[in-house]
Amino acid sequence: MVHTFRFCPKCGSSRFTASGPRSKKCEQCGFEFYFNSSAAVAAFIRNSQGDLLVCVRARHPQKGALDLPGGFVDAAETAEDALKREIMEELHLEVEKMNYLFSIPNVYQYSDADVATLDMFYECRVKDFSPLCASDDVACVSFMPMEEIKVEDFGLQSIKKAVSRFLQKNVDSK
Ligand SMILES: [Zn+2]
Repeated sequence: MVHTFRFCPKCGSSRFTASGPRSKKCEQCGFEFYFNSSAAVAAFIRNSQGDLLVCVRARHPQKGALDLPGGFVDAAETAEDALKREIMEELHLEVEKMNYLFSIPNVYQYSDADVATLDMFYECRVKDFSPLCASDDVACVSFMPMEEIKVEDFGLQSIKKAVSRFLQKNVDSK
C-alpha cells in the first residue's frame, strides 16, 4: 500500500520515499503521508421472519457477488450517520435503531490500487420495509433465511468473515 503513490501528492517531487512501514516522506518539501485505514460501515438487517437482507453488487470490485448494505464513511461524518445515509441511498429504507457489533480490517481494490479499510458492522432495525428498492451500487436485494446463507457467496473478504461471525452468533443463541 505504501507503493500506491510514486510522487509527492503535495509538490509532485519524485523524491517521495518510505519513512516507515506505513508512511512516505517527501525529501523536497517535507510532506509526510501515512497510509491509514479508511472507515467503512455495513449492516445486518433482518425482517420480522428473521430473514437476512442481502444485496447483489452492481459494481466492481466483486460485481454480481452477494454483499451487505453499506459503504465508506465521509470525512466529518459519524459511522452511524454514514450507515443511515447508505441504507437510504441503496435501499430507500429508514433505520429505526442500530447496535454496533464488531469491526474487521479489509483491503479493497479500487481503481487499480489497494485501499486499507476498517469495516464496522452494525445490526439495524427497520420498521417499514415497504419503500424497499435497490439503487446506487446495489443491483438487487432479497431476504434470505439464515440457514440458506452461504458465506462463500459473499464477495469481499471482510464481509465473508462478518457474515460467518453473525451466523455463528445467531445459531448459538437459538
Ligand atoms: Zn513534496
